[in-house]
Order: sequence, then C-alpha cells, then structure tokens
Amino acid sequence: MEFELDEGQQEWLEEVRDFLRTHVTPALRAELAEHDLEFKGGEVAAFRKAIGDKGWFGLNWPVEFGGLGLGAVHQHLLVSEFEYWGVPGPDLTVTSVAPMIMRHGTEQNKAEFLPPIARGEMICAVGYSEPDAGTDLASLRTRAVLDEATNEWVINGSKIWNSGAQRSTHEWLCVRTDPDAPRHKGISVIIVPIDHPGVTIRPLIAWSGYRTNEAFFDDVRVPADNLIGEVNKGWRYITGALDLERGALTNAGDLRRSVEDLVDLARQPRADGRVIADDPVAVRRLAGLVADVEAATLMGYEASSLLAEGTIPTVEVSTEKIFTSELRQRIADTAMDLLGPEGLLAHRNPEAPLAGGFERLYRAAPLLRFGAGTNEVLRDVIAQRGHALPSSGR
Ligand SMILES: Cc1cc2nc3c(=O)[nH]c(=O)nc-3n(C[C@H](O)[C@H](O)[C@H](O)COP(=O)(O)OP(=O)(O)OC[C@H]3O[C@@H](n4cnc5c(N)ncnc54)[C@H](O)[C@@H]3O)c2cc1C
Repeated sequence: MEFELDEGQQEWLEEVRDFLRTHVTPALRAELAEHDLEFKGGEVAAFRKAIGDKGWFGLNWPVEFGGLGLGAVHQHLLVSEFEYWGVPGPDLTVTSVAPMIMRHGTEQNKAEFLPPIARGEMICAVGYSEPDAGTDLASLRTRAVLDEATNEWVINGSKIWNSGAQRSTHEWLCVRTDPDAPRHKGISVIIVPIDHPGVTIRPLIAWSGYRTNEAFFDDVRVPADNLIGEVNKGWRYITGALDLERGALTNAGDLRRSVEDLVDLARQPRADGRVIADDPVAVRRLAGLVADVEAATLMGYEASSLLAEGTIPTVEVSTEKIFTSELRQRIADTAMDLLGPEGLLAHRNPEAPLAGGFERLYRAAPLLRFGAGTNEVLRDVIAQRGHALPSSGR
C-alpha cells in the first residue's frame, strides 16, 4: 500500500501553498481574529473572490458544470491546507450541497445554481435541524405546499442551529412536502433565497462564541423550480449531503497545526519559567497526539480516495469524523493541562499563548462531536452499516 502523495498531488499542494503565501495577508488574519468569518471588513470577501477567480470552489467538479475537473483528493488536500493555515476555503455549499445538485438536481437546478456556487457568489446555510428534530431528523415539520395557481412553493416553519445564515445567500432547506407519507418519504429539499420576504434570521450564540441562528419561514414563496430533483425524494439527497459534510468537516489540517503549535510552546519557557518539554510525561502525551494526527491524515486520504472513485464513503467518513472530533478535544484538553492557567487566557489578553488559540479551541472542540450527526449515532452507523451489527438502541 502506498501512503505517500504522488508527484502530481505534491505539485498541487505546492500550488495551493503558493496561493496561500500570497493571499493570506496580516490584514486578513487580523479580520479573522476579530470577526471570525463574519465578512465584516472585506478581507474575507476579497480572499473568497481570489479563490473563485482561480476556479477552486468547483475544483473537483466536472468541467461541464463549471469546475476544473480535478479529483476529490485534490479538493481534500486544498481544504486540509487551508485549515492548516486557519483560513476559510471551500465551504459546505461547495463540498456537500453542490455535489448533490450535480447528482440529483434537474437540468434547471444545475443551470441556475451551480455557476454562482462555483464563483463563490452563492452560499447556502444548511437547514436541517428543528427544535424537535435533531438526530431524529425525519420528524421535521417545516412544511412546503405547492400553490398550483402561481406554481410556487409556500413554506412555513422554523429551523434551529442554522449556521452561517447571517453570511449566506440561500437556504438548502429540508421540508415536509407529503405529511401523509411514511416519515422519510415525504421530505424534499428546496433552495430558498435568504433575502426573500417572510424569512427571518435570529442569532444564537454557542458557548464557543460561535454564532449560529434560528430561522423562521412565514408564508415564504419560491418558484416551483427551486425544488431540488424530485419531490419527496429529499431524504436521499440529505443523507448523501451529510456524508459529504462529515468528510469535509473532519480533515486533519487544523489538528496538525494545533499540535505543531503546542509542541513549539512546550519547548519555550512558560511565564513561570517551566519548560513543558522537560517533563517526560508531557513529551509522551505530545508524541501520542502527533501519532494520532498522522492516523487522522491517513483516514482523510482514504475517504477522499474512495470519493475520487465515485463512492460516498459512509462508514469511512463516520469513523474519520468520530476520530478527528475526539482528537480535537484531546488536543484541547492536553493544551489546557500542559499550559496550566496560561492556557485559559483568551484573545486580546497580551499574555495569552498563541493569541488565545488554545482557549478558543477548548471552547470550540465540542461542536464537531455532535455537529453533522452526533458521535453516538455515528457509532451506530459504523456498527450497522459497516458490520451488520444491531443498533445500540435495540
Ligand atoms: C453550534 C451548532 C451548530 C449547528 N449547525 C447546524 C446547521 O448548520 N444546520 C443544521 O441543520 N443543524 C446544525 N446543528 C444541529 C446539530 O446537527 C444537532 O445538534 C445534532 O444533530 C444533534 O441533535 P440535537 O441537538 O437535537 O440532539 P438530540 O438529537 O436530542 O440528541 C441528544 C443526545 O442523545 C443522543 N441520541 C439521540 N438519538 C440517539 C440514538 N438513536 N442513539 C444513540 N444516541 C442518541 C445524541 O447522541 C445526543 O448525545 C448545529 C448545532 C450546534 C450546537
């Protein structure tokens, strides 16, 4: 088995790094540190435009859909490298929504939505969860009814944890279109412009400081053509998009960076004069993290290679998602243990190591343990789909 990247992949990585060296400016870093991804000062928007100009939002899409025709491994390497640098790259619109439109969308869907996604102009918030529909997503109640007189969908209901809606142009909205059908068979996906009358977005701030949202839909009308693919077939599109989301969200780029940063800090005397690396137990813990990051990297290569072959790797991305999200938490916990009280200092405190990066990581780490499907449920997915074992709930 060959674990190394081949020559073409290495060259691609260098091209990506050249781009990042040119475009990741101190001004972009300052804006991200201050506003995260809120696009407040224009630097993030300019950075996204540069990515769009390169054609890198659709880099692994077929050329006929406005892509560059490169493979899933190229995309994985790019996303991992962007995460290593701590800057936003292709988001879920590109990595999980667009592929579902390509696979299942109507010709109208493809012509209308794919070109602006490829340019980075159309960004979707993912509207699945509702106050009473999280893990049990099939119990969702947001309703869409076709008004045959006007040929429009009329949508009523609400979503919760609607991340990124404040900076998105559209909702990839999961709705019930047949309340009488069995639960999984009456669901559809409709694209809804966020600036449409009747859409209200309200902020919801998580413990990490991360902003997510509540979204309300009151008699929102969109053209019938905004339905993705076929009516009542949405469950298939959603589960496919979620598999892709898990793979895209869980590469090891930012984990590698965090462990490298922690190793660097361990070599330098801390505020109390202590050098963490003088403690053999601490060194052993750091070495364990380095080994785990290598394992996570290989899991990413495996999942993206399967994608490149045309398979949506459900079990593999579930494994990768559980491992990387729990590793992220272990890295944050280890940083807190090794840095001691210094590790708790936050952004804007001049004494904070790495401008408060580990304090932020500690608060942000839990998110991916339940985002895109909780790890408990994904363990069931691995057991059932990977090994034909019964669910833990039975
Ligand atoms: C900050 C943040 C951002 C988010 N962003 C988005 C977003 O952009 N779009 C979106 O649609 N959603 C989003 N979510 C929602 C997220 O996907 C859900 O929180 C998650 O799927 C869990 O659903 P729930 O919160 O309803 O918990 P529940 O489903 O109520 O689960 C509670 C606990 O019970 C366990 N559990 C439930 N059912 C089972 C089972 N069958 N077997 C074993 N254990 C089980 C779960 O593992 C969990 O530990 C976000 C959530 C947060 C907090």
